[in-house]
Amino acid sequence: NDRQAILQTIAGEKHDLQRVNFKETNLKELFGINVFNDATQKAMLPKPIYKALQRTIKQGDVLDPTIADAVANAMKDWALSKGATHYTHLFYPMTGLTAEKHDSFLSPTSDGGAIAEFSGKELVRGEPDASSFPSGGIRATFEARGYTAWDPTSPAFIFDGPNGATLVIPTAFVSWTGEALDKKTPLLRSMEAVSKQAIRVLRLFGNHAAKKVFSTVGPEQEYFLVDKHFYFARPDLITSGRSLFGAPSPKGQELEDQYFGSIPERVLACMAELETELFKLGVPVKTRHNEVAPAQYEIAPIFEDSNLAHDHQMLTMEVIRRTAPKYGMVALFHEKPFKGINGSGKHNNWSLATDLGENLLEPGATPHDNAQFLVFCAATIRAVAKYPELLRVSVASAHNDHRLGANEAPPAIISIFLGDQLQDVMDQLEAGGAKSTKQGGFMEVGVSVLPKLPKDAGDRNRTSPFAFTGNKFEFRAVGSSQSIAGPNTVLNTIVAESLDYVATQLESMTKAGKPLNQAIQELLPTILKESKKVLFNGDGYSAEWHAEAERRGLPNLKTTVDALPVIVRQDSLELFSKYKVYSERELQSRYNILCETYVKNVSVEGKTVLMIGKTMILPAAIRYQSELASSIAATKAAGVEVPSQVELLKTLAGSIGALQSALAKLEHDLGHHADGDPIEHAKAARDGILASSTAVREIADSLETMVPGDLWPMPTYLDMLFIK
Ligand code: ADP
Ligand code: MG
Repeated sequence: NDRQAILQTIAGEKHDLQRVNFKETNLKELFGINVFNDATQKAMLPKPIYKALQRTIKQGDVLDPTIADAVANAMKDWALSKGATHYTHLFYPMTGLTAEKHDSFLSPTSDGGAIAEFSGKELVRGEPDASSFPSGGIRATFEARGYTAWDPTSPAFIFDGPNGATLVIPTAFVSWTGEALDKKTPLLRSMEAVSKQAIRVLRLFGNHAAKKVFSTVGPEQEYFLVDKHFYFARPDLITSGRSLFGAPSPKGQELEDQYFGSIPERVLACMAELETELFKLGVPVKTRHNEVAPAQYEIAPIFEDSNLAHDHQMLTMEVIRRTAPKYGMVALFHEKPFKGINGSGKHNNWSLATDLGENLLEPGATPHDNAQFLVFCAATIRAVAKYPELLRVSVASAHNDHRLGANEAPPAIISIFLGDQLQDVMDQLEAGGAKSTKQGGFMEVGVSVLPKLPKDAGDRNRTSPFAFTGNKFEFRAVGSSQSIAGPNTVLNTIVAESLDYVATQLESMTKAGKPLNQAIQELLPTILKESKKVLFNGDGYSAEWHAEAERRGLPNLKTTVDALPVIVRQDSLELFSKYKVYSERELQSRYNILCETYVKNVSVEGKTVLMIGKTMILPAAIRYQSELASSIAATKAAGVEVPSQVELLKTLAGSIGALQSALAKLEHDLGHHADGDPIEHAKAARDGILASSTAVREIADSLETMVPGDLWPMPTYLDMLFIK
């Protein structure tokens, strides 16, 4: 490492900051140009085929197989006109990433030429032979092949790059036995489940127009950008996405001069380009700003139905990842890339909306609307109160463990923030009208008007993992590198279960002759009584809350290893199989995969700590030791006593010794695996490898404050966070 050389290179480097020019290209003309969207479908498909396809997309009708050829043909012509040479089925395996395998459109002809072909069969089903993806035991080798199935509800698009354009078709990835091998299939199933139950509730309110209810999601993505020269000089960032070493920078985020500050020129140019690419792909990105930590940024789209939001979220990460290097930077999506400053999350804004666009968590202007709002809101509260551990495990990962529970991210205890007004309404309802609201008057369902609920971002409680924000809930515990499919699958399913309960209760009461409003007025107190333990409007970071939550009996699953067994608990198996979201085998496989993934992540980090510790940090410290020792010897020989330098040498030698023992302990832990089931491996990784890696880091970070800068083998926190 030659810090001066790296800094000089960065300072001298010119980046083209004018790669996109919105004065030449109108934003509006750009949006969706690379998407086989509604307008394109309409223009390119015969009318009856267009209509059949739209019925499948908008109302979930089963796709008529006879139209597939016509759709495929139109897609191909459109893709060729955009310069595409290949097509690919994009899928979302259990790695949490995206996967693709490209096939050319070309087919040879008998006369030695070739034609471009794409059949309905090729559109509808692919066989990627992707047998190396984790299946958690679902696929034995004889049935190792999975197939991809076209998801017509997520439009195909063109991914365009300097090396050619590809037609990308979003798909579900399933085994031949019909089991989900991916993250999209369960998400789609959970959307079905919540739609079905929400429709039952809507029918009770006399809504017969809505045919389907969609869960809607607007995921806010936080990420870091660091200069690629630093990134390349940090093996830990390369293997693990986070810095496994690093003493704190003398300046961190304490001056609060980054949050919403003016965006650095280079970063802004990068954002403009990645937004352009996302616009072309029809991703409705809306907001960008600096986040709290130095070098941290955020991008947020306008919400969409959760399937589309998921696909677009994956695409957003991919486009950010690809665009940053064009500006000499690397994007870090890790939940905690730098110790001691804020980590990154992916705030998952969630609601339910009908196919006619009505937001079911929007308090309305009329008492009727409000009764409906209160029912959907209470059902969501009930769901979170009943299944907090499922929400917790849906965001569990080795990475996110470094964020959840640190005092800048929501705690691992799941609770709901409602805000004063709504909390007051709920308290009133729970008391059964026996208590007046803060505004005065009683809350009578179907008669009272709700107080005005604030939507203003200013007075929000940022410490809550699950907050009502005016017309949606915001699940804040989701990790920045995570796929949003899992958390939303859980959310949709637990809310489906609650809506099922609510609908069943209300149906039976109204059938017995009770007016709907009265039935609601009777049901809501019961729900709120059993669920109110999860409601908490105070400071989620405080120690008092941890004690209070324990008194209330709320689970506090601190680490991934504590959370994972929830997946295969009897109540989870029953819930997910009842709503046909995951079968028992599918859950078992996810449990296995997540345990293994945890062990792999922790092991890769441990091996990286060992490598850096042994081959970079220890030698640097020894070099300094030898320099110091020679200097002391020379000084002594010249007749000058330097006792304080001798002390320094002793301290240094002591730290080097401690580093060696810590490394030896880590090496030992890396070589010893627990026997038995997957969770035992995970436990051993957490208590062994992770703990000893942390111990190595502590000593190494203190060495960083002693060893001369020119000997230190890696870029520092100061370099990575502040040189932009
Ligand atoms: P803020 O959090 O600053 O109030 P917004 O309310 O505009 O900002 O929304 C933040 C995110 O929540 C955006 O991605 C937005 O699209 C999304 N969002 C807004 N309404 C809904 C909804 N009904 N369902 C899901 N997400 C929503
Ligand atoms: Mg927000």
